[in-house]
Amino acid sequence: MKPDLFEAPDYYNLDELLTEEHLLVRDAAREWVKRDVSPIIEEYAQRAEFPTQIVNGLANIGAFGPYIPEEYGGAGLDYISYGLIMQEIERGDSGVRSTASVQSSLVMFPIWKYGNEEQKMKYLPKLASGEWMGCFGLTEPDHGSNPSGMVTNFKDKGDHYLLNGAKMWISNSPIAQVAIVWAKNEEGRIHGLIIEKGMDGFSAPETHNKWSLRASSTGELIFDNVKVPKENILPNRSGLGAPLSCLDSARYGIAWGAIGAAMDCYDTALRYSKERVQFGKPIGGFQLQQKKLSEMITEITKAQLLAWRLGDLKNKGKATTAQISMAKRNNVEMAIKIAREARQILGGMGISGEYSIMRHMMNLESVITYEGTHDIHLLITGLDITGLNAFK
Ligand SMILES: Cc1cc2nc3c(=O)[nH]c(=O)nc-3n(C[C@H](O)[C@H](O)[C@H](O)COP(=O)(O)OP(=O)(O)OC[C@H]3O[C@@H](n4cnc5c(N)ncnc54)[C@H](O)[C@@H]3O)c2cc1C
Repeated sequence: MKPDLFEAPDYYNLDELLTEEHLLVRDAAREWVKRDVSPIIEEYAQRAEFPTQIVNGLANIGAFGPYIPEEYGGAGLDYISYGLIMQEIERGDSGVRSTASVQSSLVMFPIWKYGNEEQKMKYLPKLASGEWMGCFGLTEPDHGSNPSGMVTNFKDKGDHYLLNGAKMWISNSPIAQVAIVWAKNEEGRIHGLIIEKGMDGFSAPETHNKWSLRASSTGELIFDNVKVPKENILPNRSGLGAPLSCLDSARYGIAWGAIGAAMDCYDTALRYSKERVQFGKPIGGFQLQQKKLSEMITEITKAQLLAWRLGDLKNKGKATTAQISMAKRNNVEMAIKIAREARQILGGMGISGEYSIMRHMMNLESVITYEGTHDIHLLITGLDITGLNAFK
């Protein structure tokens, strides 16, 4: 792979809106990605393997629980810092950002918000340091966009719960020590259970043959009469709103992360367009290529503004689910379109692993589908503005 020459675009001087702490956090993540992710990520993606050696680095830049209070091992940062960390990691690779998003927003967040003090003290510090990895099981073979139909269930057996069912498409599952699993009780109410690797009847086989997020480990979660200690239920919230609130937090991070992937594609294409000569001049001098590049920087700038404002609202506790959906949907679509255009600017070289663009493009095909598909986010906006439910 080519050396990482990344220079971040900031066309509207948005750095001026960031605090000193935001800049410090962002720059530390940026440097780490350049040093520890860029040189190895293409090889791991080609091999379809998660680079476990980067877990410590992710913990050190605060990517595991950026907004979780320091007393639980988190970084105690605000939501804009969280977003910036996700942006920088996804600038390197969406799969690596997925690993961090899941750990922070889908595993640490529910334990922090809905767990009791013993659960928080037992799990959060280990997850923040990367000693333990976690995963989040909501999607099932027959229930993706409609998780309320889930069939994974648990029964009260007096001194324990008995868990049965299966989850699929679970990021981190093959490498995780802890799984937050959403299942229905005998009354059909959804609860979160903390499942640990090694429990009898629990397995997490890896999913192979992915063309996307190849450097992220994905798998299933299978529960065959798993005896779950009663203290492993998340006591402080139940119902579908509990997992959906975790998705809000992860989708927020994705809205920022996708900007990183787009920035990397744009920066690569811009540099290439100034160096690649055809018909006696750099291809960047042709109007058709300038149109592509100009539209890219316009869309990136709009997405940056959207993310910054959303972060501001989130810091004030005012960001709504629908606002988060809009940003996730807009920014991921923006990134995938930019990846496709940037790929063309590089001509044949665009498909090569010498450059990051094709990897970003394929990764973004998952990002546009997970954490609520592109369609589902549109329906969330539609419901919000009309008050009419078009889901069913
Ligand atoms: C790489 C990867 C990692 C993932 N990681 C996780 C994870 O860690 N944890 C987890 O729980 N899940 C995870 N997922 C699952 C992901 O969230 C689901 O794939 C997603 O929610 C869509 O579900 P589905 O694949 O079953 O598609 P479906 O729900 O079957 O949707 C198929 C198509 O139908 C459309 N559709 C569905 N309902 C409607 C409707 N009402 N109106 C209009 N169109 C509709 C969808 O938009 C989509 O285009 C991951 C997925 C991938 C690919």
